[in-house]
Amino acid sequence: MLYDCIIIGGGPAGLNAALVLGRARKKVILFDEGKPRNAVTNESHGFITRDGIKPSEFKQLAVQDLKKYPNISIHKERVKDMKKEGLSFQIQTDNGQSFYARKVILSTGLRDGMPNIEGIHHFYGKSVFTCPFCDGWELRDRPLVVISEDERIFHYTKMIFNWSKDLVVCTNGKNHFTDEQRQLLAKNEIKVIEDGIKSLQGENGQLQRVIFQNGQEIEREGGFVATRLEQASTLGQTIGCEINEMGGIQTDKVGRTNIEGVYACGDLSLQAPPQLITAAAQGSIAASTIVGDLVNEDF
Ligand SMILES: Cc1cc2nc3c(=O)[nH]c(=O)nc-3n(C[C@H](O)[C@H](O)[C@H](O)COP(=O)(O)OP(=O)(O)OC[C@H]3O[C@@H](n4cnc5c(N)ncnc54)[C@H](O)[C@@H]3O)c2cc1C
Repeated sequence: MLYDCIIIGGGPAGLNAALVLGRARKKVILFDEGKPRNAVTNESHGFITRDGIKPSEFKQLAVQDLKKYPNISIHKERVKDMKKEGLSFQIQTDNGQSFYARKVILSTGLRDGMPNIEGIHHFYGKSVFTCPFCDGWELRDRPLVVISEDERIFHYTKMIFNWSKDLVVCTNGKNHFTDEQRQLLAKNEIKVIEDGIKSLQGENGQLQRVIFQNGQEIEREGGFVATRLEQASTLGQTIGCEINEMGGIQTDKVGRTNIEGVYACGDLSLQAPPQLITAAAQGSIAASTIVGDLVNEDF
């Protein structure tokens, strides 16, 4: 069977794309490996009508919406390969099956690369987060640690200061501050520690202290860490999609990549703040673009 569209990735971007395509009467198949970026968290925030929802519940509700449409099918499976054959695409799943479609949406998301600090994974998504817009409210006014090993550290600290004034900034042995930035941090009574971090300690996901390699310890109740955002899948690069300077899959404003017939949406483009609502919106836009492109080809 030739599908109108294969969607690879079933986070908010892929799921919303499926909804729009399904409602436009297109034959859609969505593959999802089921390892979304926010799997480590208990609550998602900032999506109107769904503020505070569990990520797994958000997904269940989305799948329930899609079940109304017999022209949409969902497979819980990883896509391992994809190639263009003339005007259509062939994708291959982990169990060796092949599927064919006129268009492909990549919505495979990102992964968070963590600094190499003992214990950090116990707290990530529980009391240490990466996005203050997502989780700053829950940590407001608490004594927080801000960890970043790269040049984003000053801007990142400034943003987090919006939610809590009690900050200790840790560079984990790196030095990315200018003199002027150091003065501004001091003016706002933000302490900077540039020693290497040995470990994070606490209980049941609740951060209690940061231990440094020189033996120093500080008490903190939570924090933010600037992660390295990496593509969760190499399918985009494999098919020849252009990668932008942020490491995202480059698209035009309506989701088209440089490869004709391949569209991309959600976190993976790194062209919008990486959040649920922007991912879902990008999914909707890419799907509408595909409907328009198919109509133009067929009319
Ligand atoms: C700790 C943390 C907390 C967060 N909290 C919030 C919050 O409170 N509010 C908010 O708005 N945002 C939050 N986010 C961000 C949010 O998770 C992302 O913006 C959102 O999930 C992006 O949606 P997406 O559809 O682009 O990708 P994802 O949700 O990551 O979904 C991509 C899907 O594609 C699948 N996939 C990847 N490769 C393949 C393949 N080859 N074949 C098949 N499937 C594949 C993945 O397994 C995954 O299921 C948080 C992120 C983190 C890390």
